[in-house]
Amino acid sequence: MAVGSAISSPLGPASCDKDAKALQFVEETTRNADLVQERVLAEILARNANTEYLKRFNLNGATDRDSFKSKLPMITYEDLQPEIQRIANGDRSPILSAHPISEFLTSSGTSAGERKLMPTIQEELDRRQLLYSLLMPVMNLYVPGLDKGKGLYFLFVKSETKTPGGLLARPVLTSYYKSEHFKTRPYDPYNVYTSPNEAILCPDSFQSMYTQMLCGLIQRNQVLRLGAVFASGLLRAIRFLQLNWTQLVHDLKTGTLNPRITDPVLKETMTRILKPDPEMSNFISRECSKEDWEGILTRIWPNTKYLDVIVTGAMAQYIPTLDYYSGGLPLACTMYASSECYFGLNLNPMCKPSEVSYTIMPNMAYFEFLPHDPNSAGCTTRDSPPKLVDLVDVEVGKEYELVITTYAGLCRYRVGDILRVTGFHNSAPQFHFVRRKNVLLSIDSDKTDEAELQKAVENALQLLKEFNTSVVEYTSYADTKTIPGHYVIYWELLVKDSANSPSEEVLSRCCLAMEESLNSVYRQGRVADNSIGPLEIRVVKNGTFEELMDYAISRGASINQYKVPRCVNFTPIMELLDSRVISTHFSPALPRWTPERKR
Ligand code: AMP
Repeated sequence: MAVGSAISSPLGPASCDKDAKALQFVEETTRNADLVQERVLAEILARNANTEYLKRFNLNGATDRDSFKSKLPMITYEDLQPEIQRIANGDRSPILSAHPISEFLTSSGTSAGERKLMPTIQEELDRRQLLYSLLMPVMNLYVPGLDKGKGLYFLFVKSETKTPGGLLARPVLTSYYKSEHFKTRPYDPYNVYTSPNEAILCPDSFQSMYTQMLCGLIQRNQVLRLGAVFASGLLRAIRFLQLNWTQLVHDLKTGTLNPRITDPVLKETMTRILKPDPEMSNFISRECSKEDWEGILTRIWPNTKYLDVIVTGAMAQYIPTLDYYSGGLPLACTMYASSECYFGLNLNPMCKPSEVSYTIMPNMAYFEFLPHDPNSAGCTTRDSPPKLVDLVDVEVGKEYELVITTYAGLCRYRVGDILRVTGFHNSAPQFHFVRRKNVLLSIDSDKTDEAELQKAVENALQLLKEFNTSVVEYTSYADTKTIPGHYVIYWELLVKDSANSPSEEVLSRCCLAMEESLNSVYRQGRVADNSIGPLEIRVVKNGTFEELMDYAISRGASINQYKVPRCVNFTPIMELLDSRVISTHFSPALPRWTPERKR
């Protein structure tokens, strides 16, 4: 055992034997990326040779790349809907996978307003755990001494349902936290959390957040890293502290637990942890009662070395707010993953957020890349089969859409993420996450596309009919300056009879009508997770959208091709819109949402 002394690895000196093994695995896998990919594909095709899906394409047991590429089409979730529905309804025959489908993972991507159901198999948990096990060895290369303290991570389980055929349907992280892989993970000094499992696993989001915060406060001097999965989650925790610090401080002072913590197992765990500490209570009270919360994270948790949150993709909008609350602590984006498959990790996690690149690990699935032209609409049809590029053949500087073939039975499945190649680690490419296709608005894990927004506006328009009023133009904006963030929709109205114009009450009902027609992930964020605030309509003066067009044309847009952008975030445009606002309206109530799926 060589703890303390450096064990050399091409990535850097590992801090212990376990890390050295993990780094060596990264080295070997990335060095032999193409061989590993070939092996992964052969394994997947061999084990699934007798599935209904592969038989349909007459693969006849072939496991080589050429047969696979010539016979199997690239598909989307919608193409697989019938198979997925049959599995959900209880068909246990080998439809997509020879291994039994163990559960469905509910993606934050939606189809017809509901979360996509991703079939998974038991052994995928091992693969996810393997990727997790690589994160700290990489982090330890850059931040020494993480074994001398703990991580304060706000982690949550969410509601789960059963499909008609009895399979569980739940988010991938809920599945992971509830698994034995997580619950009975062996002690690792580099990966100790302040939150006990009982707090993470409590299904009530208030009790879970409250006790995780309380444990984080109690152990404030031991906290070396602070995090949540996504940036929006960490900001939600800060907001929670703003709203609940007086009660938290009371608990710390008296050593008694907030009576709102009623979960018996959690109560018992907290009773063991919570002891009166008037000095700490006073300190936190002093800090939280200050008007100015700038740098609050480093004031309360002074030994924090970095924030561990994803701030790439849609989450980049939160970087300035996180910088404000943390006094500019480094932001580490460690991994890139999805319900379909965990993809890879950031081998340089302390780099600037704008420079984050994820190295796709070739052992996780078989990866292909659909060249994406940033200037085209990106349409590809089955009539003109596009040429997919293999993992090791992508070119630096080019953009691609990720296409995966997984052990759970997805074949040439379009994930919907656009990635740009920034370089290679050995022969494995590294990717900058460019964006998710077709996402207009996103606050937390919600993803609203243009068609959904259009439908929501149409739904709200019904309420304006009796006022002989229509919406001339609209655009939208994800306002993340508030916590939680919220959708803002700019409306230019045409009121035909000014004596009968829609009232404030009608316009706020329009906000709710829009929310009612948005997808279930949005509504869950509003209702259950409190991660999205009430939708806002800002009515702008007549002629505003024409001014917007004039502005775009003055900046070089073609008059013939000009289209109103359905989402805006460019400061001069926001300023123009905001300076023309004549009234603002907020959703007065929560939209309907239940964990049950409609279909
Ligand atoms: P879900 O299917 O709900 O688990 O969401 C997975 C999606 O979240 C991915 O396909 C990406 O679009 C997004 N995502 C996951 N990890 C990252 C990351 N590190 N940076 C940016 N986007 C991410």
